[in-house]
Amino acid sequence: MDLAGKRITVVGLAREGTALVRFLVARGADVTISDHKPATALQEYLSRIGELPVRLSVGANRVEDTIGADMVLVSPGVPRQLPCLVAAREHGVPVSSETRLFFELCPAPIVGVTGSNGKTTTTTLVGEILRAAGRQVFVGGNIGLPLIDQLDLITAESWVVLELSSFQLELMNASPHVAAITNVTPNHLDRHVTLEAYFDAKLNIVRHQKPDDVAVLNWDDRLSREAAAHSPGRVVFHSQTTGLDEGVCLDGQWIVARCNGDAQRVLSITDLKLLGRHNVENSLCATGLALGAGAGIEAVTSVLSCFTGVEHRLEPVAEQNGVRFYNDSIATSPERTIAALEALPGPLIVLMGGRSKHLSLEGLADVALRTCKAVIAFGEAGAELEQAISTAKRTRGVDAPLTRRVGPLDEALEEARRLAQPGDAVVLSPACTSFDAFVDFEERGQAFKRLVLDQA
Ligand code: ADP
Repeated sequence: MDLAGKRITVVGLAREGTALVRFLVARGADVTISDHKPATALQEYLSRIGELPVRLSVGANRVEDTIGADMVLVSPGVPRQLPCLVAAREHGVPVSSETRLFFELCPAPIVGVTGSNGKTTTTTLVGEILRAAGRQVFVGGNIGLPLIDQLDLITAESWVVLELSSFQLELMNASPHVAAITNVTPNHLDRHVTLEAYFDAKLNIVRHQKPDDVAVLNWDDRLSREAAAHSPGRVVFHSQTTGLDEGVCLDGQWIVARCNGDAQRVLSITDLKLLGRHNVENSLCATGLALGAGAGIEAVTSVLSCFTGVEHRLEPVAEQNGVRFYNDSIATSPERTIAALEALPGPLIVLMGGRSKHLSLEGLADVALRTCKAVIAFGEAGAELEQAISTAKRTRGVDAPLTRRVGPLDEALEEARRLAQPGDAVVLSPACTSFDAFVDFEERGQAFKRLVLDQA
């Protein structure tokens, strides 16, 4: 695809847009950036574009910037029904995205991972396994690293492993050669509006596969399993609960891969370094993906036996006076905190709080009652969380866990230190977003780690 001299409008700047703009300019395109935010709110990204010759059209998404373009590229998170995008389509201007363009231009085979939970862990695992198998690997996408401006380094012999959000999948007309939907639960429903639309976007990861492609799906998750009906490729299921004749599953403690009547042992789950059942699921999925991409069992075994996880996901921070501290700042929804509480050996003191997503807290309260010694509710959603736990305790007529409500995160940690005894685990697993006090979950996780380590 020759982009030189093409008039291309990028709608929505942000991280992905920034990489895209750099790439387009390098290929000689005539680039306009359209963003509804004013320039002052875009400083972080504009500074990364620097002196590049682009036209800035900010403060509104103007129709005249899209209808006169040769192509419009939309950043993830930009609503498809924006008037300037509707107008572009009406004028016959192709509307695409960085991800779609990447698929068109990438010379290497692609492994893609989507789902509600476990994307980053699974993507990272697969990247490590393919590397251990001797491949040149590029890991990126929604994981925080757009790969479009690395295209010059990628060859037909490389492998690309992409984490794909449902937003990135929305406009896709191609699917990865090896693809997984880890699981599908109600999340991100604010923009996709219904679970159906959210699922439909995710299905694009298998929908356009070829017969030789591989779809790795989760037998234990209703919607992931249903996706099998939408993949023209070979389906490989994985399951923690059901022994499968074909696919990746458990045989007692062993992860086994069964293919054409042949069974191979991968690893005992007691040798996994990752904690929790959800990470067994991620390991099974990563095994299916890596084998689907042609890696050998040895590479899978060696990585699964030493991979300890990704930052901010049940990350061990320190052990102080016999108390273990974990940072699980990524847990921005109740279901993720449930996964943490189920995974960590107790007695547990959990720090929950931040900005509420207004999701049901009943399931979380049930699990907290069963697993926690204390719940410390902090930040903007502190009252809501405290009430959910108190209500559950009253309904069941129990006194535990201790429930405390405090102000910001540092107070929550102070309270946890007061309550903790040797043998306890203290985990920041907030069940809420970080936006009441931090830029993102990463900043919140860093702050927590600093607070923990400052006392060491
Ligand atoms: P994602 O990239 O989809 O956000 P991550 O791999 O970063 O997922 O994991 C984030 C958090 O999501 C984990 O700390 C855990 O709480 C939860 N999680 C991860 N994998 C799963 C899974 N397979 N099922 C349920 N929850 C999971």
